[in-house]
Amino acid sequence: MSARIIDGKHLARRLRGRFRERVMALATRGVVPGLAVILVGDSPASQVYVANKVKACEESGVRSFMHRFPADVAETELLDRIAAFNLDAAMHGILVQLPLPPQVDVRRVLESIVVDKDVDGFHLYNVGALVVGNSIFPPCTPYGVQLLLETTGIDVAGKNVVVVGASNIVGKPMALMLLQKEATVTICHAKTRDLARHTIDADILVVAAGKPGLIKEEMVKEGAIVIDVGINRLPDGRIVGDVDFDVVRERASWITPVPGGVGPMTVTMLIENTLRSAERFANGEAFHPPQPFWQVPAR
Ligand code: NAP
Repeated sequence: MSARIIDGKHLARRLRGRFRERVMALATRGVVPGLAVILVGDSPASQVYVANKVKACEESGVRSFMHRFPADVAETELLDRIAAFNLDAAMHGILVQLPLPPQVDVRRVLESIVVDKDVDGFHLYNVGALVVGNSIFPPCTPYGVQLLLETTGIDVAGKNVVVVGASNIVGKPMALMLLQKEATVTICHAKTRDLARHTIDADILVVAAGKPGLIKEEMVKEGAIVIDVGINRLPDGRIVGDVDFDVVRERASWITPVPGGVGPMTVTMLIENTLRSAERFANGEAFHPPQPFWQVPAR
């Protein structure tokens, strides 16, 4: 039997429909949620991602402040700009589009964003908070996957979850979030021997490797839930995930399409985190000027 489709576009639309109410409630308190977006260089993929984020802001009533830098920007220039945004009360979130050019230390840049505005959830404080289960801003892609899984109505507690991909922005936080939900989690990466031996045991398989066709039918357990985070552009221009969708859907119980699965949720969770940040400032849970991160109250 063919798998049921987990429709990310539909869920994203539903969630965004509720954002307007929150924006209006903030407006009655004199707050307009604002997101600063920093783009370095002119990579076509980054430009598309940033354009989608800015558009989602406009549609949701979040003000976006776009700042572009050339690919040869000095790290100090970026840090100075972020320091100014940290102090600016109109900005409730600060996002630096990754990847950054090699002369810039990514970790130094991410750590320079004040924790209260770290809506991408990449600051060490938020990463550490994820380990103990009380992060202020869960990273957007895994956060979106978690909500997609909830729509299946299946409780992840006790399930065998296999996450393929161990990056800091998708695979690792995904694994931590599902561990918090009491799943039994296995993380696989490029050096994992015999990937299929692990994936075949998965009740829930989350794939974020960036390798088209990586997951084939025989690697998936009958009835598994399959979440495909991958976004790959083929030479013929088609966008596909990491999962061989047409055959795996005949084996899985639920599956996300690419496009239209995880992608729309990532942008939606960024807006969710930005609204949450604006609400924290409005509620007096976050402050201008910023506090050191060890004084940030947990969620
Ligand atoms: P990344 O930083 O390149 O990490 C890829 C991970 O996959 C690494 O941990 C790597 O292992 C692992 N990997 C690579 N080849 C593998 C293989 N053959 N078998 C098992 N593991 C393998 O990529 P990322 O930023 O996490 O993104 C992953 C994919 O998700 C990309 O296609 C990206 O475009 C997509 N993405 C989508 C969204 C969305 O909103 N839908 C958001 C973010 C990313 P090592 O650690 O050993 O190198």
